[in-house]
Amino acid sequence: MREFSRSSPRPLRDVPPEARHRVVLLNDVPAGELLIHEIYQSIQGESTFAGRPCVFVRTAVCDSRCRWCDTPHAFNQGTRMSRAAVREKTLHFGCPLVEVTGGEPLLQPEVLPLLSELCDAGRTVLLETSGAHDVAPVDPRVHIIMDLKCPDSGESHRNRWANLEVLKPTDEIKFVIASRADWEWTEQTIRHYQLDTRFTCLVSCVFGAVQPVELARWLLASPLHRVRMQLQMHKYIWDPSARGV
Ligand code: SF4
Repeated sequence: MREFSRSSPRPLRDVPPEARHRVVLLNDVPAGELLIHEIYQSIQGESTFAGRPCVFVRTAVCDSRCRWCDTPHAFNQGTRMSRAAVREKTLHFGCPLVEVTGGEPLLQPEVLPLLSELCDAGRTVLLETSGAHDVAPVDPRVHIIMDLKCPDSGESHRNRWANLEVLKPTDEIKFVIASRADWEWTEQTIRHYQLDTRFTCLVSCVFGAVQPVELARWLLASPLHRVRMQLQMHKYIWDPSARGV
């Protein structure tokens, strides 16, 4: 198991001054605890793991404010739980696939040892992160699913490009597309960094903003033959606004 220093909590150095007010709830969370929005089992709706039963550990608080965010309820609602309690509740489902998501999980230092402990317990562990934070300290056994934020999100200035040199070939990069302009940015970005030859690249549409058939046509008309289009499966199974599913 990896060792993590308890004496030097990771500073929130990736949070710009104008976004610090969004993370104040985390100031009161002591070492050994996390602020958790919810833990539940559902069907994994995205990524190459889509369709599989999965336990979701949703951390509270995010420093970004994507215009189309579908989990704003996680911004300021959470329960303090010890890392051990989060681990036990997650393992109790008996599900081999676990995803830690948010909010933004990498804002909370205890997420790093939690990820390792879930790997140690034999789980396949996914981490979903906004792409604004350093992924280098994440246990290499974890499958990272990292966003690169398109311009219409309003958060593309936060993309941490250095992460592209840290991600593993087994990690996945996700583009959420809200417009034709977002698609053109995505296509240019993938081609510029040759992302489709280095990682699994996922493209999906903002629910209700771009129709799946439009995105399918854009992808088919492009030379990006390795890019995978995905739909948020859970929004088709359950009501699109349903929580905890
Ligand atoms: S990074 Fe994720 S949780 Fe944060 S605002 Fe964007 S979509 Fe919402």
